[in-house]
Amino acid sequence: MPAIFFGHGNPMNAIGQNGYTDAWAEIGRSIPRPKAILCVSAHWYIPAVAVTAMPKPRTIHDFGGFPRELFEVEYPAPGSPELAVRVQELMGDGVIADDRHWGLDHGTWSVLVHVFPEADIPVVQLSINEAETAAFHYQTAKRLSALRDEGVLVIGSGNLVHNLHTYAWGRHNVDPFDWALRFEDKARELILADDHEPLIEYESLGRDAMLSAPTPDHYLPLLYILALKRDGEGVSFPVEGFDGGSISMLTVRIG
Ligand code: ZN
Repeated sequence: MPAIFFGHGNPMNAIGQNGYTDAWAEIGRSIPRPKAILCVSAHWYIPAVAVTAMPKPRTIHDFGGFPRELFEVEYPAPGSPELAVRVQELMGDGVIADDRHWGLDHGTWSVLVHVFPEADIPVVQLSINEAETAAFHYQTAKRLSALRDEGVLVIGSGNLVHNLHTYAWGRHNVDPFDWALRFEDKARELILADDHEPLIEYESLGRDAMLSAPTPDHYLPLLYILALKRDGEGVSFPVEGFDGGSISMLTVRIG
């Protein structure tokens, strides 16, 4: 299976149709049907490593100030307690099996409603431990590699550039900020060159990086996907563009 990082952007993408959502749907049609999906979402950023283990995860509407229609979206994909156990085996002790608290947050479902609209493929989420370093996330993500051979689609959902302070709410045709473009260009160059070290050490990439990833939550899911790249595998960017000037919608596909 490929491994894919999605830039999810505005939750309203879940109920809209645009160039991004059309491209997400095309990805769903173009890849082999996965047995299950493991999603690392920016929106499950907690001081622990946990994996959802319930057979029927709920759809979590983890945002405020959006129209009622968005709160009515349900993504009734089944869970997979078996995959949760497999993730625990691969990632080692200390991974909490959460069969009650979380579910599917909008980082996961706002994209999957377009990629797999039938919601018939089991979905499991893996949390991002906020107490750990970027290097830790990259290294531990490598342990998930075997899942790709077992028919599991590993996805990361975040945004390579995600600055809500500068985001043009409600004004959609603003040009991307120069620092946002520069950081995305730099990241693409490093990704294509398989030069992951500076991307792990992104906080040392200067002011563009600090403005583009002012908090780690939306950036770190990308490292989970880069970590799964094998020697000689291709990388592509099947979705690109900026929303509101400061959100990169870049999708990174490995394999
Ligand atoms: Zn988000």
